[in-house]
Amino acid sequence: MSTSPSSPDFLVVGAGFAGSVCARQLADAGHRVLVIDKRPHIGGNAYDCLDEHGVLIHPYGPHIFHTNSKLVFEYLSRFTDWRFYEHRVLAKVGDQLLPIPINRTTLNKLYGLTLSEEEAQAYIERVREPRAPLKTSEDVVLNSVGSDLCEKFFRGYTRKQWGLDLSELSAGVAARIPTRTNDDDRYFSDSFQFMPAQGYTRMFEAMLDHPLISVQTGQDFESVREVYTSARLIYTGPIDSYFKQCFGPLPYRSLRFAHEHLDQDSSFQAVGTVNYPNDHAFTRITEFKHLTGQKAKGTSIVREYPQDEGDPYYPVPRPESEALFKRYEALAEQETQVTFVGRLAQYRYYNMDQIVAAALKASDDILKRP
Ligand code: FAD
Ligand code: UDP
Repeated sequence: MSTSPSSPDFLVVGAGFAGSVCARQLADAGHRVLVIDKRPHIGGNAYDCLDEHGVLIHPYGPHIFHTNSKLVFEYLSRFTDWRFYEHRVLAKVGDQLLPIPINRTTLNKLYGLTLSEEEAQAYIERVREPRAPLKTSEDVVLNSVGSDLCEKFFRGYTRKQWGLDLSELSAGVAARIPTRTNDDDRYFSDSFQFMPAQGYTRMFEAMLDHPLISVQTGQDFESVREVYTSARLIYTGPIDSYFKQCFGPLPYRSLRFAHEHLDQDSSFQAVGTVNYPNDHAFTRITEFKHLTGQKAKGTSIVREYPQDEGDPYYPVPRPESEALFKRYEALAEQETQVTFVGRLAQYRYYNMDQIVAAALKASDDILKRP
């Protein structure tokens, strides 16, 4: 990363996936790019680092890479080697730890049954409560698994995570979680499921390591807004902040991450993440060594406590916030020298791979322009 150019062709706000992919694409095409981030590091929410005990952790919560896009996977493979990892999650329901997404094992253990795959399918068919259209997340869950499984696995978790009832959230939120009647206990079923072998931060360093890219961390857009006025702008922060919240603040859900190190050589839990749909104020506990495969002394875990205040982590998918976003989007369309891309700027509940795809498209569009 070179020193900052006095007059970059592009100013990229945010060094997460959206900003870093755009920066790299523009630099590869011969443009001088300055990337700034108000945090003291690159990588956005996917940033990882060693904690004080030498365990590789994700300070902003567990990040597991998964995609069906060969294009995205191959693009990122330019900057990292991979470690094969399929994420598994158990949900604590009553005294039991049960696979989530719900599968045949979940049903058999929860209800003390011995259903075959066909019988599990028939069971789900019997208990589901068909709904059409599927407008809310409640519609999605009831339509998939009916009310008992909804109450045990979804309603409480969702209330904690969003501070809202399932019925107040758009369908897409709960639709992220499939229902299975076989024994597949993987959280994701994508064709590419890997973790960056040396971690996310190393991958970002490689992506931003280009003679035409300069990076300034600890730099807020507001303090340089009037400095680089001749540069084209790629903005990946919250869209409402860019417009000084002129229509009022967009809701973003935040989290408090409670990290803990345990001086024990055995695992704290059997799988990467355990969800707590009904007990405790936190939603889930993740043990990082499962994700990273790191061999180190002791183990580090994180509990996630959802809250309204704090860094914006999740756009809140519901009709009211979508309508407010549309008003900001209309303003964004008038800013012809600015590209808004990323989870906060597009106000979309996107996974990392979707952000990479969006950033590749955004930079392609910019490069095609005269
Ligand atoms: P970000 O990573 O948020 O980057 C935006 C950057 O812009 C930030 O670094 C921010 O500091 C900076 N910025 C904002 N405003 C300014 C400003 N005014 N000036 C300067 N800089 C600014 N996805 C998956 O695929 N798998 C997972 O397992 C997964 N787990 C997740 C777990 C949690 C708890 C969260 C919150 C998200 C998870 N995600 C996961 C989603 C993933 O984090 C995002 O898809 C991805 O990181 C978004 O990249 P981005 O560049 O759009 O945004
Ligand atoms: N969800 C739930 N119970 C679970 C897991 C997920 O109710 O055990 C619901 C909840 O509304 C959550 C959404 O499904 O916000 C999406 O879950 P995911 O694990 O994809 O959330 P993320 O990892 O993005 O926080």
